[in-house]
Amino acid sequence: MAKKVIEYSYEELLDRAYSRIPKKAIGKETFEIPRAEVLLVGGKTIIRNFTSIADILNRDPKLLMRYFVKELAVPGTIDESGALILQGRFSSTIINTLINRFVKTYVICPTCGSRFTVLEKIGKVFKLKCLACGAETTLKAF
Ligand SMILES: [Zn+2]
Repeated sequence: MAKKVIEYSYEELLDRAYSRIPKKAIGKETFEIPRAEVLLVGGKTIIRNFTSIADILNRDPKLLMRYFVKELAVPGTIDESGALILQGRFSSTIINTLINRFVKTYVICPTCGSRFTVLEKIGKVFKLKCLACGAETTLKAF
């Protein structure tokens, strides 16, 4: 009976070694999208760390609120503690999916992937200006 020998090519060995390096060590830093702390109280959804999420993303909390209000089609308010209160019950998964979507569209530069960008409303559109590569992207405003 022949002995079974597993042979790896050089490339396969490299791949295996590479896959063991934590992703963070490769190339540029990966930006961790902040996670919302979601609380359901009665018929309301409270995002407790809302203002600090907006701060991390370098976006106006009012703009981020408008995004939620538009996407979920419910009224919202920001209270004195910086929490966003939405009328209606939405799971943490829904809220965090919306934050991820917001970040991918209105924060991350599509040209270079930097998160250091500014968003300006010009007439009916948004201009996403990248501070890293200088690219300007026109987006539909909300
Ligand atoms: Zn860029």
